[in-house]
Amino acid sequence: QPRIVVIGLGVVGAALADELTQRGMRHVTVLEQGPLWETGGSSSHAPGFVFQTSPHRTMSLLARRTLDKLDGQKVDGQWLLKRLGGLEIATTPERLHDLSRRHGLAQSWGIPSRLVDPDECAEVWPGLDTSGVLGGFHTPTDGVVKSVPAVRWQAERAVEHGARLVPRTRVVGVTRTGGRVTGVEVLPVPAPDGATPEHVPADVVVACAGLWGPGLARDLLGFELPMMPMEHCFGLSAPVPGLIGRHDVLDEASRPMLRHQDFSLYLREYVDRIGIGAYRHRPMPVEPDGVAGADEFAATGVHPAMHPLTWEDFGPSWDEARRLLPELRDVPFGEGFNGIFSFTPDGGPMLGPVAGVDGLWLAQAVWVTQSAGVGQVMADWIVRDDPGVDTHGLEYTRFDPAVVSRDWTRARAAEAYAEVYDVVHPQASTEVQRGLRTSPFHDRQRELGAVFEQANGWERPLWFEANAPLVDDLDRVPERDAWAARHWSPIAAAEAHATRTAVGLYDMTPLSRLEVSGPGATAFLQHLASNDVDRAVGRVVYALLLDDAGGIRSDVTVTRLGPERYLVGTNGHRDHVYLESRCPDTVRITDLTAGTCGLGLWGPRARDVLERLTDDDVSHAALGYFRAKQLRVAGADVLAMRVSYVGDLGWELWTTADHGRRLWDSLWEAGTSSGLVAGGRRAFHALRLEKGYRAYGSDISREHSPAEAGLGFAVSRRKGDFVGRAALEDRPVRRRLACLTLDDPDAVVLGGEPVLARAAGPGEGAVGYVTSADQAYTLGVTVAYAWLPPELAEPGRALEIEYFGHRLPATVQSEPLVDPEMSRILR
Ligand code: FAD
Repeated sequence: QPRIVVIGLGVVGAALADELTQRGMRHVTVLEQGPLWETGGSSSHAPGFVFQTSPHRTMSLLARRTLDKLDGQKVDGQWLLKRLGGLEIATTPERLHDLSRRHGLAQSWGIPSRLVDPDECAEVWPGLDTSGVLGGFHTPTDGVVKSVPAVRWQAERAVEHGARLVPRTRVVGVTRTGGRVTGVEVLPVPAPDGATPEHVPADVVVACAGLWGPGLARDLLGFELPMMPMEHCFGLSAPVPGLIGRHDVLDEASRPMLRHQDFSLYLREYVDRIGIGAYRHRPMPVEPDGVAGADEFAATGVHPAMHPLTWEDFGPSWDEARRLLPELRDVPFGEGFNGIFSFTPDGGPMLGPVAGVDGLWLAQAVWVTQSAGVGQVMADWIVRDDPGVDTHGLEYTRFDPAVVSRDWTRARAAEAYAEVYDVVHPQASTEVQRGLRTSPFHDRQRELGAVFEQANGWERPLWFEANAPLVDDLDRVPERDAWAARHWSPIAAAEAHATRTAVGLYDMTPLSRLEVSGPGATAFLQHLASNDVDRAVGRVVYALLLDDAGGIRSDVTVTRLGPERYLVGTNGHRDHVYLESRCPDTVRITDLTAGTCGLGLWGPRARDVLERLTDDDVSHAALGYFRAKQLRVAGADVLAMRVSYVGDLGWELWTTADHGRRLWDSLWEAGTSSGLVAGGRRAFHALRLEKGYRAYGSDISREHSPAEAGLGFAVSRRKGDFVGRAALEDRPVRRRLACLTLDDPDAVVLGGEPVLARAAGPGEGAVGYVTSADQAYTLGVTVAYAWLPPELAEPGRALEIEYFGHRLPATVQSEPLVDPEMSRILR
């Protein structure tokens, strides 16, 4: 059995230690620099609101698991979880509208919820001043977790099952040999002068160090962890006359947790007081050197996760709380503090194995809300190498080192803090740290009036204003409701139309590309890829990277460039880390993304354009579908890959960054007479969906098998063994990714919406949820992919998709909707 060291006993470390011992791990040591049970970290001060509804399915799932685990458990007669329910109120029409989206999300993820009117808000939360309240969202199974008792209960259970818990002991070093962790070095707290660290051997080390995480990563592990502790104002009223005697200390609270997001405010009862948390203030980042160390805490008794309350930040929230709750109006303020906890660039946690150091793991930037769920996932991941849930949005390797810097993290985390209660559109892009990465085509795109989004640091065009006149040529200009029209333009329809009828030019540069080369490269990729990549030089193969359970951990295109040389198109840095972790010494993996660039040239006239610029034969006979060839295009050395994510004739044309501008300009000039247009991401997304191409992360994840995802064609039964193959043999099909169209051609959904049986009653739950959706401009309908039980995924099945409270009739279709016979591509 591995010797496992957990650094930190907050809610995360405690949950993990418990889950590891529950899975039979007998050598678990938890090292905590602070005293028990209030260690001084964030968990010692969290009011413990657990709202389960999130736009991110896995985050909701982990919140549910946290509540399910702690439900009914007690420490010293104190409950760990009280399902008070949650009430979110709307005081603006925009929020009211958003609450119905949240109700839809709750249905998608199976969280009981209902929308309530102002009178019902007052029933759910007696005493609430509902003047100005337009409605609410009530989630009866949400609850409050008492984090210190939750730490204690989980830690004590871990100890009962053999874990060793060592308080007042600080990890000051992480030892490694070669690429493996060998243990940690520790000092007692407080450390005597000149004390030498003691070595604690370990095979697995997990950092659950909360707000000390960034400093620990930088000082002990040597890398920048993109998370930023922030100060957050929290206060308690003085005792409220009406509450005195209503709850005893054990009872603590009875009315639901209340969220007033239009004022970035949350409230709950604390025995005879009201606790108030405020996000409506300037971001106050805390750099690693601003986080008090354990020795300082031992000397001063001042908890490191507490800074003095800054009244100028909190005052307006206190006033608003008194407006909202008349019972507070004559009650003075009690006490408060600025609590500190961590924010990340996208609000998600930082989980997973540390790249390049076997046995080293992170479980950082986790809220109480997901804590016990994260403990389970991490324990499964460490013990079985299978987290069991879709982790792609939780893994810290989702952030590319090419973008991570202290400045970037500070700016993005501040943005995440400011937006924590905002109505955030699912397609909104960050507004900070823009322009970090641009392709060689960027200036040309700007000249065409590109509207950009940001993806992995790259500026990526959404559409081009220069194409606006093309909208007039469309027979029918699609309409959208105000929400769906955000971050969208009808120009996308014109660009899609031009791609299907003439030719479009798409910037593919942000797509991550790795060169995998050296003796053994073929065997290495054959071992990981589901499809047979040991094909002739010049062949392109679409393949899945499966995990041992047969779940899809990513999808890739593998192009053979030489006997032992491949170009692998991936879903980003996360895949690079994975491949690197399995890579034999003889094989080299080089990330080519930054130094190269690529254009997709697609549409029925794509060949006309390309032929004008090259002497090479680019006929179907000479360069067939899923073939690649090195060409000279307008003098530039170009790797032309006959693939198309939009589902039309054409190529991805890859070259080095220095040739990029020349390539764009030449294609542009040569394309004029063929009706070439620049196309943006919105057109691209719609085209790929109507053609039925899946996107990793939104449509598919490691929770799904190839058969469930409709990707069985990417699994070769003829080749030898590969990761996941054995598991596929007897993995049942539990659900299917189905293609639906909305019956009303003017209706649009965006993804995340619940799918319901036709005419389902209010109590009947969702049967599935939409993964991604868009208008299929070629057909004039909206297409929505959704996960459904197999029996409901049959073509012709009539269902409904709920969008902002409206039940939209939808029908399962056989797919792909566009060009099932492949005549557009194979010409
Ligand atoms: P911590 O609780 O900080 O634990 C980390 C532990 O690691 C500490 O005990 C520390 O001493 C130890 N440690 C660090 N470095 C070392 C080392 N080198 N050696 C040994 N030990 C080390 N979350 C919610 O879900 N809902 C809420 O309503 C909510 N409200 C909040 C309000 C406030 C005011 C605050 C402060 C936080 C709130 N949070 C809330 C956030 C939540 O508290 C944290 O995200 C969570 O507690 C983090 O848990 P953790 O175990 O990662 O970190």
